[in-house]
Amino acid sequence: MRLSRRHPRYRSLVVRAGLARAARSGLVVPEGLIAQGRGEAFDYLLGERTTPSARRAERAAAEWLRAARHPVVSVNGNVAALAAREVAELARAVPGLAVEVNLFHRTPGRARTVAAALRAAGVVEVLGVRPTARIPGLPSDRGLVDRAGIYRADVVLVPLEDGDRAEALRAFGARVISIDLNPLSRTSEAADLPIVDELVRALSEIAAHARRWDRAPRRPRLRRFDAERSRRAALAAISRHLTRRAAGRWRRPAPPR
Ligand code: ATP
Repeated sequence: MRLSRRHPRYRSLVVRAGLARAARSGLVVPEGLIAQGRGEAFDYLLGERTTPSARRAERAAAEWLRAARHPVVSVNGNVAALAAREVAELARAVPGLAVEVNLFHRTPGRARTVAAALRAAGVVEVLGVRPTARIPGLPSDRGLVDRAGIYRADVVLVPLEDGDRAEALRAFGARVISIDLNPLSRTSEAADLPIVDELVRALSEIAAHARRWDRAPRRPRLRRFDAERSRRAALAAISRHLTRRAAGRWRRPAPPR
């Protein structure tokens, strides 16, 4: 099907078509398509933009990743399908950032497919294809990780994670940064630094902030972040957006030319 660039939901339709292809190739599982739908619904509620509180969280996330001794970004099928290029960009912007495949629905073949998508996008080294350690508190395959990656990480970025794993990583001692459009998800609630924003927007913004530290005279510190305040700000942004729309004070931005 040909998609018209003038369609008001052009970008979303392109993303959906890409995910449907990724599902046919085995990169994304059917559950991943449901997760995308849930995310899109929250993006509507947020006004499909990066809110000021999300931007602040992204700046803090860049600082944490640059301050960490062993920063890791955890990648699942949806993240590889939607944002492999942005993951590669982030890995270039954060020296020492390990990129690890971490799958809820793990098979060796799927782990290899995710790793291949990341390498094709420019990620030089991908961990987690053959896991070598286990995070306690997670049943079966879901706790499998790489000893050189998540197992020893002090800061882990978990885009589109599920709540159990975010909680287990935190209990294991890592600081958890989440990217999840749903401020009410257990992941957002468990994270030390929840980013309530769309994946591609968030990763690009974090990378841009991380690059600014190249010129800094010293390494940043792991500063305190008020996660509860940030989550409340995301809910307030939704509430304000809905109030504006309910009052008829909102215009959809013009589609790209
Ligand atoms: P939890 O266990 O944390 O309550 P969940 O069961 O909703 O979460 P999943 O179904 O795995 O977890 O969904 C992952 C989350 O990712 C969802 O909350 C969804 O809002 C979010 N999400 C999906 N697509 C995107 C995207 N493109 N950008 C940001 N967030 C997204």
